[in-house]
Amino acid sequence: MDQTVLFRLAVFAVLLLVMAGWEFLLPYRTVAGQSRSGRWLTNFSLMICGAALSRFTVGAAMIIAASYAQGRGWGVLPMLGLPAPMAVVLAIIGLDCAVYWQHRFTHMFDVLWRFHRVHHVDPGFDVSTAVRFHPLEIAVSAAYKAGFVVILGADAWAVVIYETLLSSFALFNHGNVHLPRWVDQTLRGLFVTPDMHRIHHSAWMVETNSNYGNILSLWDRIFASYTDKSRENDREMTIGLNEFRDVESQSLVGSLWLPFRRDAARIAPKPGDVSDKQQG
Ligand SMILES: [Zn+2]
Repeated sequence: MDQTVLFRLAVFAVLLLVMAGWEFLLPYRTVAGQSRSGRWLTNFSLMICGAALSRFTVGAAMIIAASYAQGRGWGVLPMLGLPAPMAVVLAIIGLDCAVYWQHRFTHMFDVLWRFHRVHHVDPGFDVSTAVRFHPLEIAVSAAYKAGFVVILGADAWAVVIYETLLSSFALFNHGNVHLPRWVDQTLRGLFVTPDMHRIHHSAWMVETNSNYGNILSLWDRIFASYTDKSRENDREMTIGLNEFRDVESQSLVGSLWLPFRRDAARIAPKPGDVSDKQQG
């Protein structure tokens, strides 16, 4: 196996164990009547489906794109002739900005929201939510990111570091954990934290359409999509999408089928246009 894949898998496995252990010992939210085993079965099954599909489609797209662009001197960063470490840092920042917009687009356009809402249908919020994505969304996302790797002319190592950071922050940000307020606020000055990202999974649509950031919290502030606090007590706030709380929508098959459901056709919510508790 490619060593970079092994490195990423090892970091992922360690972070997953650390976050799962933290949640187990010090869970922030305990929601009565919610089955963790059922949610974890669906969420981790989706992760395996996504990994399997990517393996045979666009799994290595970003690395291949980076090597291809590098071999031809393509991209903005090589044109600037920066020292290598600076080019790596700028590539990571540039990719994080591109992925912020990708996430925002999935909340703006109906066809994309159909797939992305599989992530938001989870009525709980813990480390397993981080891996709950429709496999087709993962494949499309990899192709989108590969495009930006070429535009930026990102180095293959920058791509490996960025992807490792992205999955690590996803596991951290979805953790059912809580940091002391001052630690959270200090970290939030630069990075996305669990308390910041939980607001993005709120059942209030206006809150769901905010805090799109993945690694850096900067983009939500610059592009005016930052929400500091949920309107509900963040320990008891309702998570998920109210119209998909039935058993079928929560199953693996139901999740895979969710984007194609006729009864689920509706215009994607626009930022700010629904101020009451969401309808989806
Ligand atoms: Zn989202």
